[in-house]
Amino acid sequence: MRSEMQLIFQNPYLSLFPHMSIGANISEPFLVNKKDIGKLTSKELTDKVLDLMKLVGVPTEYYNAYPHELSGGQQQRAGIARALALNPKMIICDEPVSSLDVSIQAQILNLLQELQKKRGLSYLFIAHNLAVVEHICKRVAVMYLGKIVECADTKDLYTSPMHPYTQALLKAVPVISSGENTEFHVIEGEIPSPLNPPKGCRFGTRCEKVMEKCYEIEPEYKEISKGHFVACHLMDQKTGE
Ligand code: SF4
Repeated sequence: MRSEMQLIFQNPYLSLFPHMSIGANISEPFLVNKKDIGKLTSKELTDKVLDLMKLVGVPTEYYNAYPHELSGGQQQRAGIARALALNPKMIICDEPVSSLDVSIQAQILNLLQELQKKRGLSYLFIAHNLAVVEHICKRVAVMYLGKIVECADTKDLYTSPMHPYTQALLKAVPVISSGENTEFHVIEGEIPSPLNPPKGCRFGTRCEKVMEKCYEIEPEYKEISKGHFVACHLMDQKTGE
């Protein structure tokens, strides 16, 4: 099961073993999982690693280089090669571009999309950058304090957000446009501790639309329109409760 689900980490340098070459880093999943994939000869293993390096765009001359000798973008490509090594069905991408320069972010996102088409991969993509999420995801789940508060197809969520937190997040994105008086919205207040979440709705201490019952009763997470799920008491009128 583990070989079918792999992970791409946020910090590409820290996700590679610094004392091992790039080739050895990418070989690691084959060695760890040799029971599942049968024993490869040393030549077959090297060829597989070189193929993976070519697939993700890491020059094969870096086979014997150490992680610190590569740029951040190349390190992340090596991390992606390692995640692909066992031909997984699903990859969890945990903030995979947030520590990279903006121009490199675009290259890595394009690479992830290309690989998805080529290999039929599913991604669970975790990010704080709403533009990146909109670009890469087909379906989006918004979390607040450890709970999903809204989930819908990307277009639906970005054009018709229903939860006050999602609405506030989208309003907080700065818009660059000429001639328009664009306001910058911030969500007031501090995030409460997840160890001691507020009673009732977790967003109640910061919500502009908070009502009395929000402080007492936790809203139910339910389907409001086809495939669009929301956890908010404001939805009770829509569902007739
Ligand atoms: S349940 Fe109440 S506090 Fe929570 S998001 Fe909805 S309106 Fe705001």
